Amino acid sequence: MDPDERNRMCLSGPSTFGLSRRSALAGALGIIGGTTLAACSSADEQSFPGSSTAAPVPGDVDKGRPHVILLGTAGGPAWYPRQNATGIATAVVIGDAVYVVDTGDRAPEQFFKANPTGEAPDEQFSTLRGIFITHLHSDHTIDYFKMINYGWWTGLQHITQPVKVIGPGRRASLTTAYPGSQPPPPANPANPMPGITDMTNSLLAAYATDINDRVRDNRFTDLRSLIDVDDITIPGFDPAIETLEIMPAMDPFPVYEDDRVRVTATLVNHFPVFPAFAYRFDTDDGSVVISGDTGKSANLARMAADTDLLLHEVIDTSWIDEQYADNEALRHHLMTAHMPSTELGRFADELGARQLALHHLVPAEPPVERWLKSRENFSGTFHIGTDLAAINLRG
Ligand SMILES: [Zn+2]
Ligand SMILES: [Zn+2]
Repeated sequence: MDPDERNRMCLSGPSTFGLSRRSALAGALGIIGGTTLAACSSADEQSFPGSSTAAPVPGDVDKGRPHVILLGTAGGPAWYPRQNATGIATAVVIGDAVYVVDTGDRAPEQFFKANPTGEAPDEQFSTLRGIFITHLHSDHTIDYFKMINYGWWTGLQHITQPVKVIGPGRRASLTTAYPGSQPPPPANPANPMPGITDMTNSLLAAYATDINDRVRDNRFTDLRSLIDVDDITIPGFDPAIETLEIMPAMDPFPVYEDDRVRVTATLVNHFPVFPAFAYRFDTDDGSVVISGDTGKSANLARMAADTDLLLHEVIDTSWIDEQYADNEALRHHLMTAHMPSTELGRFADELGARQLALHHLVPAEPPVERWLKSRENFSGTFHIGTDLAAINLRG
């Protein structure tokens, strides 16, 4: 197939379109003026400011086949008032089973809005099978407990199997202090780098009044029995004993499997955060790799080889230059712990992804054209993620 024909593009949102490479830029500008062609769809009317609010085109995403719903696409613990983008979270929907990767700002509300499996409003969370946390930065976890606690009222109390929660384990050592700085004593010195099990137990303890009230007075199922939490065990390495400063090369390793999906994980480059993971979901009808926060990662490239869909984080290099022209250290960190927009296209192309979707956008601010840099050198189908957009794993 002509690469120009393959290189379609869509803004994954209510205003969507498919284009050849030659017409992509004009089309992207055209969408601001209201062009709407079908390539992917959204479950909601949110859109980039100034763009068309045309309704999604029905039928362009087959909800009967495995697909993702981008619940939230904003990166970082920040609100973007001009865009009103919600925090990073993704639903992987396979039949009537839903798996959520990361639980950023308003993830449960977005789940509720998306209603991934078309349940009755008071039963929507009954189809939630798993929560996968890439790393423990707040923009990926801030609404983790809300998803469980509000889900309790919205279907989780009727599940027969607990929701599997998978994420990083406790880390051995504190983050290295910035050279020349004098950091204050660490927060929570008895366990300053807790993992997902520690976090869950602390949250359950913090909400004990609520939980005990509901269980004893309202006769709710014990919230603790509705989740089954596992710290990820990394083959050949224990982060509770040793913290690495250089990412070890590794093959992806399994972390979860059921009748619908096989999930593998790998370590990615988000230093000084360690461990930080990417996840791959393999189904009978396509695969998706979700990057978490990472710079260019050889481990992720290995895991994502020939994937049907790569959801990758991205940071706008021009924005970094504008914001931090006088802070070379921070510029260096942002360019290495995150994926520069100018490098993502070639990276995704070389690993062989058939579709590339941008999410965890930093900044999640207009103009949308800033993200076209990530399309350069990519020959597959390109999506700029917007909240509540849906994309089939196999396009
Ligand atoms: Zn992040
Ligand atoms: Zn992060």
